[in-house]
Amino acid sequence: MEECAEIQKPICKALRFGENDQYPNPNFPGATSANIHDISDEIDDLLGVVELLLEYGVLKRPADPVRIMAKKKKVLKLMEYAREHGSLT
Ligand SMILES: [Mg+2]
Repeated sequence: MEECAEIQKPICKALRFGENDQYPNPNFPGATSANIHDISDEIDDLLGVVELLLEYGVLKRPADPVRIMAKKKKVLKLMEYAREHGSLT
């Protein structure tokens, strides 16, 4: 659950300031980070936790490709709806 929440922060920053907005990286003094990279990093963190949950038997089955495909179709359909209504360009 913690990793799910951590994904929200860079997504919110990307929506507000743009995916390529740069800011000082608190973990590496002198370096900068971009929101799009932070999103990828946090998704990697979540996928790592999912793998651990599978390895330790907490999750009982791997990802279901049928459900994944259904979700992708649903999201694409909703994106088209948003595009038609001008809220997505
Ligand atoms: Mg994280």
